[in-house]
Amino acid sequence: MAACYGFSQADGQDNPVAETGFLMRQRFGDLLALLAGAGYRVVGPVHRDGAIVYTDVHDAADLPSGVMVETAPGRVRSTETQLPRLFAWANGPQALKPLLFRSEETLWRVQRGDDGGLAFRPASADAQPLALVGVRACDLAALQLQDQHFLHGAYRDEHYAARRAQLLLVAVNCTHPAATCFCATTGDGPQAQDGFDLLLDELDEGFIVAAGSGRGRELLAGLPLVPVREDQVRKVASTRQRARAEQTRSIPAGDLYDELMARREHPRWNEVAGRCLSCGNCTQVCPTCFCSREQDQAQLDGRGSTHVRQWDSCFSEGHSYIHGLVVRGEPRHRYRQWLTHKLGSWHRQYGRSGCVGCGRCIAWCPVGIDICAEVNALLGGAHGA
Ligand code: SF4
Ligand code: SF4
Repeated sequence: MAACYGFSQADGQDNPVAETGFLMRQRFGDLLALLAGAGYRVVGPVHRDGAIVYTDVHDAADLPSGVMVETAPGRVRSTETQLPRLFAWANGPQALKPLLFRSEETLWRVQRGDDGGLAFRPASADAQPLALVGVRACDLAALQLQDQHFLHGAYRDEHYAARRAQLLLVAVNCTHPAATCFCATTGDGPQAQDGFDLLLDELDEGFIVAAGSGRGRELLAGLPLVPVREDQVRKVASTRQRARAEQTRSIPAGDLYDELMARREHPRWNEVAGRCLSCGNCTQVCPTCFCSREQDQAQLDGRGSTHVRQWDSCFSEGHSYIHGLVVRGEPRHRYRQWLTHKLGSWHRQYGRSGCVGCGRCIAWCPVGIDICAEVNALLGGAHGA
């Protein structure tokens, strides 16, 4: 086992001092094998169709070696390079959300018996031990928000809870933030603070691996680690500082509820609505959005039906349909709802902003609408990129 190291407040970082060691690059596959051997389905980043997606990985060759991702409003481009790095990209369209809160799932089924009575049967979650490799700080912050909503709210979601209980997280500190990232201004990144089992800091020759939980410490003991050198610690500290300094986008901090509500009739809502397609891409890629709709799918013979939950979006017409009326009938109402909830009323519900600064909604918006630019235009600030 290697020596301990830590980053002090003086480094500008406050990761907890943890047991650590150095994993040589050529031994990275040992980590995946260790996780699989411990009974986990191992999911990690893969370069597919021009994006980084999370899917099953079996050895290190599956991971996106040398892949870099360039983003801008409405633009994502990936490039394969010779850089000896597996995690030189910031994020892909998925976060943890689809793994825990499925885009579609059955909640219950009902069947009519021969006596005409109805029998309701809850559907069980298809949960299994799952290890996710490559999680970023912003996604850990988003996970905490989703936990608040699904586990600690008035109605606990048993499907989410079953999957969450079996989730193991191998986080990676960002070394190459995207141009759309602004997690430094929301306070959620680019370095992971907590909520992980293992944390990796990537260098050309390998990884400093730190444990953040009891499960992480057990795994650490099974890895072929060598001692961390002082020069590697220094390199990681300077990489962390650079990753933070490279972020140029920003969003005003704090609860914006009063400021946004005071601008409910601001002309900017019409301006952004002129560009917005109400496609809902921003809410689908957002790691904190949790809206859903439920519907019954009846059997043709009338003997039963299946009750299904699907992701919904505040940009869909049906989402604000109440008693024969679509309450938010125009795109400006829907964009206003999204922004004021995310940056304003979320504080009243969950005690913090609903934005963790991942920048996905900016990059994956087909017309390049930029949440930072919009909020800064509304508030009259000069925070936009
Ligand atoms: S609002 Fe946009 S930047 Fe903020 S967490 Fe959601 S997708 Fe990421
Ligand atoms: S802001 Fe962009 S991604 Fe979101 S609904 Fe409008 S066009 Fe689609």
